[in-house]
Amino acid sequence: MYILVVNSGSSSIKFQLLDMATERPLASGLLEAIGSPAAVLHLRSTTDTSIQVSASDHSQALGFIFKALDAMGFDRPQAIGHRVVHGGERFQAPVLLTPEVISQIKAISSLAPLHNPANLLGIAACQQHFPGLPQVAVFDTAFHQTMPETAWRYAVPDSWYLDYGVRRYGFHGSSHAFVCRAAARWLGKPLQHCNLISLHLGNGASITAVEQGRSVDTSMGMTPLEGLVMGSRAGDIDPAIHAYLGRTAGLGVNEVERQLNQASGLKALCGDNDMRRILARAAAGDKAASLALDIYVRRIRKYLGAYMLLLGRVDAMVFTGGIGENAAEVRAHICRGLDAFGIRLDVELNQSPWQGQAAIHQLPQAKNDLALLVIATNEELEIARQVAELIGSHL
Ligand code: ADP
Repeated sequence: MYILVVNSGSSSIKFQLLDMATERPLASGLLEAIGSPAAVLHLRSTTDTSIQVSASDHSQALGFIFKALDAMGFDRPQAIGHRVVHGGERFQAPVLLTPEVISQIKAISSLAPLHNPANLLGIAACQQHFPGLPQVAVFDTAFHQTMPETAWRYAVPDSWYLDYGVRRYGFHGSSHAFVCRAAARWLGKPLQHCNLISLHLGNGASITAVEQGRSVDTSMGMTPLEGLVMGSRAGDIDPAIHAYLGRTAGLGVNEVERQLNQASGLKALCGDNDMRRILARAAAGDKAASLALDIYVRRIRKYLGAYMLLLGRVDAMVFTGGIGENAAEVRAHICRGLDAFGIRLDVELNQSPWQGQAAIHQLPQAKNDLALLVIATNEELEIARQVAELIGSHL
């Protein structure tokens, strides 16, 4: 079975065609700058190519993508999986796209005004090109719908939740789900028997507590702004800062929100949001970069401590995302001095090259030691697997 995974943004479409027999990508790519004369399609298959295209909208852009896949001789996919950022409370699992489901995704777009409308553009364009082909929405929030009310409820007036959906949803679901499945396989236990802490550390970052295979808490909230310090997002701050800046600096709420999302985090602390550069600067004695790194790691450790207490017993801690997978030094900072809690990093293994997944804890393990795993995330494959499971169950 071939499955096409589509991740549609407001001016770009990322895609991957997967052969589910091998779970390998046959082709992948990115069409960017849709609607501008600079639109370009980057294709990766046996070779890499970039082609200037004229794509005034998502439908034309997908037309080019389908034509390029055709020209490479690939069969038509049997199904398309769409990444949809916000599924609200309505969607707890992947779902076949019907007109009713599309209206429901539209209805919750106010929860993710930048993302859901862009995801819907990709869905509409695929339906136009391939009417009749099964198309499935896979939601970033769905994995966290297993959280108990004690985790998802904010202590705010009832009407905020009942009338406006103000609650914690969590994100990065496909990534956390993928690495948790892989960690369970590594541990040699069914996922339902595993307690895990999964750290997705990329430009966006979140940490999730997984109890018996189900998400029971996660650091992102109603939006992806809550929680860890990120590339350009502040993560947790005192919510009264909005009002304070309104009164004292005359900043409107939209401007405060913009700055918290785009001009905060590592970028605000040291002017850089690329962890490679931050590590190099810190190593060269740059104080701002060192401070940024320390604040970044401290926030992660606060959540880590909270989730270890919440879970009681933890089988494994999993690092993923661009930083989690590649920044050995950040992993070492996070684990420093935690031997008493069963977190014993092997310095050499942590630095060693690896592929796909690696264990980086000290051996032999003591009774309560956690497995420390680095697992390369693969959100496209997770989406394709969920689509295949759903389509399989409908055949
Ligand atoms: P996104 O959330 O945009 O998908 P990624 O998961 O690709 O982000 O992560 C991007 C982050 O990973 C950047 O901060 C980048 O500097 C960091 N990163 C990538 N490779 C390395 C590396 N070798 N060492 C340290 N950091 C890295």
